[in-house]
Amino acid sequence: AQNNSHMSVRGLSAGYHGFQVIQDMSLDVRPGVTVVLGPNGAGKTTLLKALAGLLPRAGEVLLDGAALPSADATACVRRGLALVAEGRQLFPQMTVTENLELGGWLIPARLRAERLARAFEDFPRLKERAAQLAGTMSGGEQQMVAVARAMMSGPRLLMLDEPSLGLAPRMVDELLSIVRRIASQGVTVLMVEQNVRKALQAADRGYVLERGRVVASGEAQALLNSDAVRQAYLGVA
Ligand code: ATP
Repeated sequence: AQNNSHMSVRGLSAGYHGFQVIQDMSLDVRPGVTVVLGPNGAGKTTLLKALAGLLPRAGEVLLDGAALPSADATACVRRGLALVAEGRQLFPQMTVTENLELGGWLIPARLRAERLARAFEDFPRLKERAAQLAGTMSGGEQQMVAVARAMMSGPRLLMLDEPSLGLAPRMVDELLSIVRRIASQGVTVLMVEQNVRKALQAADRGYVLERGRVVASGEAQALLNSDAVRQAYLGVA
């Protein structure tokens, strides 16, 4: 883990019951933070699910040169992928600690205990609330639990689906700084975001999707300054 991993995606197609959403997509997810932007229904969530092994797909996905299987989420976790799904998907009636432990279900108990201690160092606010039921926490705190839980598997590549959704501006900033810190520790990050300006300010590179295809990509700063992104997402002519 924590080795500045690179994911290479070639000719990816995926969808639901014969309805193809992702069309022949190619991406290079390099160390650092890569953001995926696009309008509703562009296929951003479908892309993350296909990469995480939650949906069948065609095409090649390599993590540090080794091919990842299609539609095998457990194998993908073992190989170093973690996904923070849209809406967090916590167990609301379980405590913070229990939710975190579930993120380490694939690892031996001793390593799980070490990672839990590490999670509480990285997220001091969660340590204070270790015994609180996850469902009673604020939206921002719940998102932190979801991120910390994903980190329990010791991923090389962390994927996040709209982590800032529903958070107050100050929490969005805090969340994005956590994402930066994770990347600086050598865990490559791929995140879908609707909060375009803040996401591009926090990211190194980005991809813009429309109707299941990549329509623009490049350095985050260049995308932030591009006419296409400014007109479509930032409301500036
Ligand atoms: P949003 O920003 O609204 O979450 P998105 O870019 O993440 O959008 P997806 O959720 O990937 O888009 O959806 C892409 C397309 O796939 C949409 O047309 C959607 O209706 C369809 N779709 C998503 N999930 C399913 C499903 N389980 N079964 C059938 N079609 C689906």
